[in-house]
Amino acid sequence: MIHRTPLFPNVIELNHQAQRRISCSVYLIYDENAWTLFDIGYEDSVDDCIELIRQLDFPFSKCTTLIASHADVDHIQGLSKAKQILKTSVTAHPLAARYLESGDKLATYAEITAQDIHMEMPPVKVEHLVGDGDRLQVGNLELEVLHTPGHTDGQLSLRMGNLLFSGDNIFRDGCVGAIDAHHGSSIPDFITSLKRILACDAEWLLPSHGPVFRKDDALIQRTIDRLEGYLHMADFGTCAIDWPLMDQWEKELVEGKQPE
Ligand SMILES: [Zn+2]
Repeated sequence: MIHRTPLFPNVIELNHQAQRRISCSVYLIYDENAWTLFDIGYEDSVDDCIELIRQLDFPFSKCTTLIASHADVDHIQGLSKAKQILKTSVTAHPLAARYLESGDKLATYAEITAQDIHMEMPPVKVEHLVGDGDRLQVGNLELEVLHTPGHTDGQLSLRMGNLLFSGDNIFRDGCVGAIDAHHGSSIPDFITSLKRILACDAEWLLPSHGPVFRKDDALIQRTIDRLEGYLHMADFGTCAIDWPLMDQWEKELVEGKQPE
């Protein structure tokens, strides 16, 4: 048995508990009757996570479900293995569930040929589909489901009291989850999701990577402003909505403008 070090009442984060980096953030949300995990991380960190949970004295039989924040390999590769060990179910947004169930290597970033990244993506059945406004019960705790697409289309956030488990929407340094057309990213959706997070009255953001931080409206607004800039930048390819330089160029072509 080891001493539990919750971040907040009813919330343990496994990297924080272990005082070392094991995986992506793995949130254990619990009361005396039940517990769940929000993400599990890579398959090779499952044994460490499960051993930690055992030492923290959470009975496996009280695990209600395993929730996937979204279908990226670094968050969910270990789901299939963890599900078998814990004999529990999986919960995800329908747009994430299709990739989890098919083990889609491209959509989950398990396979990035151009960077010589080749990982396994064990398929896993998703028993519970959830969407915006749904409520998840963990013992006597209630989690409100927010669908916050942008980084990827199936991204979930969870609200519990003054806490928002915010997925890959925004991190403590103002960075956001990777924007990539192949991955179903949408900058307009991302901006909408960040505006929802900005408007919500949660006090703390619990992201899926890096440290938990106090919700900072100025930081979120700066991030929204940055992404609004991305909408008009060639850097973001087909994720941008336009490229003003092309309009300018057309004008200059008509004018027969010479370089200056
Ligand atoms: Zn991520």
